Amino acid sequence: MKVKTRFAPSPSGYLHIGGARTALYSWLYAKHNKGSFVLRIEDTDLERSTPEAIKAIIDSMKWLKLNWDEGPYFQSQRFDRYNDVINKMLKLGKAYKCYCAKQRLDHIRDIQIKRGEKPRYDRYCRTNNISCLDANTPYVVRFLNPLSGSVIFHDHIRGPIEFKNEELDDLIIRRTDGSPTYNFCVVVDDWDMGITHIIRGEDHINNTPRQINIFKALGATVPQYAHLSLILGEDSKKLSKRHGAVSVMQFHEDGFLPEALLNYLIRLGWSHGNKEIFSMKDMLDLFTLNKINKSSSTFNLKKLLWLNHHYINNLPVEYVAKQLQWHLTKEKINICTGPNLVKLVLLLRKHCKTLKEIVISGRYFYEEFETFDSDAAAKYLIPVSIESLNMISRGLGTLKQWNAENIKLTIYNTANKLNLDINKVSMPLRVAVTGKSNSPSLNITIEAIGKDRSIYRIKKALFFIKNKNRIID
Ligand code: GLU
Repeated sequence: MKVKTRFAPSPSGYLHIGGARTALYSWLYAKHNKGSFVLRIEDTDLERSTPEAIKAIIDSMKWLKLNWDEGPYFQSQRFDRYNDVINKMLKLGKAYKCYCAKQRLDHIRDIQIKRGEKPRYDRYCRTNNISCLDANTPYVVRFLNPLSGSVIFHDHIRGPIEFKNEELDDLIIRRTDGSPTYNFCVVVDDWDMGITHIIRGEDHINNTPRQINIFKALGATVPQYAHLSLILGEDSKKLSKRHGAVSVMQFHEDGFLPEALLNYLIRLGWSHGNKEIFSMKDMLDLFTLNKINKSSSTFNLKKLLWLNHHYINNLPVEYVAKQLQWHLTKEKINICTGPNLVKLVLLLRKHCKTLKEIVISGRYFYEEFETFDSDAAAKYLIPVSIESLNMISRGLGTLKQWNAENIKLTIYNTANKLNLDINKVSMPLRVAVTGKSNSPSLNITIEAIGKDRSIYRIKKALFFIKNKNRIID
């Protein structure tokens, strides 16, 4: 049997990381088994589905590189097919028309609640002759659910799960306005698309027996199921925006690499011994459903940051630079005015956990900063620094070859000549050229900033010191 899985999001909002984990597991299961993966947009609820949400889902899937072999299919484009199947089921007596008015349904509901029973349809139209009604009477179509026996399915994560048929309603499969309902469309799609394994959130467990009964009524092969547990925030409550970023595209914007997010997500409820770092190849080789955890998982931003730092530092620098470019462009930083991006990544990646941090830390390579950090300036841009800054500025100006080695020599020579500790020279210089008191290795930083720009900034710092202290040249 060739494995075929699908990811079937409802486009009523952004792609949440819970959804992304479901997509990843479905994708990995298909790929691990040399099968195929379908993307299906479940937009039957036309009021709640938006084009923005569809775009966000597709963009997120592309960014995560979870490529689909088929689709995206849209349920909204398959209404004719659903109606064909419903009409056939009516003919075959596997579904029936229900003419019960809202008042009647409300009435039986009230009685059931008063009796302490679970409210459900009393199947009146299943057995009563309704041929006397006129042709315009509105009706819904209900599925003729078996009355006895049980539905048992073997969940790959939770083991056998049983539901008694007597607990299941005769589900509405077509509303009075002619639109098919969600649980029905899912079954027709999974059947038509030949889905063999359904991997989805545990919130769908209650739908599964209803769907299995419909599969059986259609004479279709029932797929296998794996229901994933919830992802919780660190306060043990269901993960939501309250806990910070939860949408895939927000993680993109915040400077995470897709490799880090995927690695994080695979471990969020699945394990392989104590291994924490999973390359895409590892994931594809090792992923199986039986190692998925039954209990809920807790989202931990610190761990995601740790992984992101790992990938920023271990993926090929050219690749990281390419990902960084998107962020710099978004921040309107003109990358032609400074070092190439590979150099920038090499300079900053050790100290940065996100690409956004690289952008923040690296902006001064491309643009003038407006002010010196006030603490750094108060400590280092002071009159005693004037002499060394002047000397370095002159030294840098006369360098024939602009490279880190010569810049280092200039700094050391200045310290020697002035008989100063190296820090007394390098710290004011660092604040002068970067605006801050921390930066990567100073000579490499100055090399990357460039000759004219470095000298200009030293002059600016000298001007600052003199003005702040009212020293007139
Ligand atoms: N559209 C459903 C959702 O977004 C998923 C349905 C399914 O996977 O069967 O929750």
